[in-house]
Amino acid sequence: IFEYAPAPESRDVVDIRPSYGLFVNGEFVDGSGTPFKTVNPATEETLAEVATASSDDVDRAVQAARKAFGVWSALPGAERAKYLFRIARIIQERARELAVLESLDNGKPIRESRDVDVPLVAAHFFYYAGWADKLAYAGFGEPRPLGVAGQVIPWNFPLLMLAWKIAPALACGNTVVLKPAETTPLTALAFADICRQAELPPGVVNIVTGAGETGAAVVGHPDVDKVAFTGSTEVGRIIARAVAGTGKKLTLELGGKAANIVFEDAAVDQAVEGIVNGIFFNQGHVCCAGSRLLVQESVQEEVLESLRRRLSTLRLGDPLDKNTDIGAINSAEQLAKIRSLSDLGESEGAQRWSPACELPDKGFWFPPTVFTGVAQSHSIARQEIFGPVLSVLTFRTPAEAVEKANNTPYGLSAGVWTEKGSRILWMADRLRAGVVWANTFNKFDPASPFGGYKESGYGREGGLHGLEAYLDV
Ligand code: NAD
Repeated sequence: IFEYAPAPESRDVVDIRPSYGLFVNGEFVDGSGTPFKTVNPATEETLAEVATASSDDVDRAVQAARKAFGVWSALPGAERAKYLFRIARIIQERARELAVLESLDNGKPIRESRDVDVPLVAAHFFYYAGWADKLAYAGFGEPRPLGVAGQVIPWNFPLLMLAWKIAPALACGNTVVLKPAETTPLTALAFADICRQAELPPGVVNIVTGAGETGAAVVGHPDVDKVAFTGSTEVGRIIARAVAGTGKKLTLELGGKAANIVFEDAAVDQAVEGIVNGIFFNQGHVCCAGSRLLVQESVQEEVLESLRRRLSTLRLGDPLDKNTDIGAINSAEQLAKIRSLSDLGESEGAQRWSPACELPDKGFWFPPTVFTGVAQSHSIARQEIFGPVLSVLTFRTPAEAVEKANNTPYGLSAGVWTEKGSRILWMADRLRAGVVWANTFNKFDPASPFGGYKESGYGREGGLHGLEAYLDV
């Protein structure tokens, strides 16, 4: 009755300028480093040229933030809340534009940026606006903001990671200098424009674009009081060393290698949806992705057959098409990393499977991929791939599932699929992961703290606990 008609979201809702400057002290200004290009990973077209902030530019941004700190921290919490509510409402009003921009710059399907990322971004600002005037009642004694926060974020959820960093910092009375990832700077710059629209006092939010060197200048600036980083464990280590001995506070949200654990009594269809969501949502560019499927041996065949059938129905292609399930890989560099780890998986003896799917000629693409016959010693069972690649392992008993799930240097998240409530609690007690999902996966709520154990980092973002990172008591 209904014909399948792809409905692309219109590029016309965004007005991308040919070049962008830094956002410092409430103004867009030139950067003194060599500008870089940000490309659409689905087409390889250049979207815009973006300024690189040198250490002098970062210094100006930190000075602006320091000056603004006096004004911002002196405002009553209820006044700060008004600005945050205003920002949240403008995000809702500009949701369509932000979603299209995010999909263009990142490669993620519009359905995800429209239905997941942008609504969560607005929800985060609403949530922390609510705390701004209640800090003294939340068990923080006499809460004091820390000062200037230097924040560095990755490319997988560009606007959402910005919200996780900026909303709690501002609610507590801090000012910020934020550096977005070099492959996805555009929504952070759109956010800068939203700050102007909300008439946020100049210098409260500063956005400095550039690569790792700009990030290092933010982290290393002597007048930054707090560093918040989300990204790879490798860069997290460099930052921890840079901050050691300086008295700066530090929170780190790093990599993961989560186990999604399916017991024989699980509802298979529901579990398969959770496995697909766990590893193929956002092309697997998710720190808490369920990249290891641990399936109970007795149901292995049934689950894998159902999974292969489901994967054969996924649509890969144009991120702006509302029917697309799997978008583009964010960069050529990330694609090369996914390819090389997948090739390594094959050469180490695991069996590789992908559904028949045509990859577009232009752009960076990788098909959904499942490895079976994976041993715990294989690289694809140990290293974070950060792509649409699932490694399948099996177990016989709950104790063995726990042992295998915890056999990783990471500890960000885990999923448990079973109809037995007591088993969920038994597992959650024993899994060394910051979040354990039961009969669901990749569920986020601003009221719920998020963060890792072990090499996945320390500190929590979100919820009441997320405020602790931005306050002295
Ligand atoms: P990355 O570590 O390469 O880069 C992250 C950011 O750090 C970028 O903005 C980059 O420019 C900057 N940077 C690079 N070198 C730096 C240096 N020496 N000093 C300061 N800043 C520097 O990570 P990525 O490839 O952008 O993101 C993917 C990683 O992020 C994955 O490992 C993923 O698991 C992790 N991640 C974690 C979470 C979480 O909440 N735990 C969330 C999203 C992503």
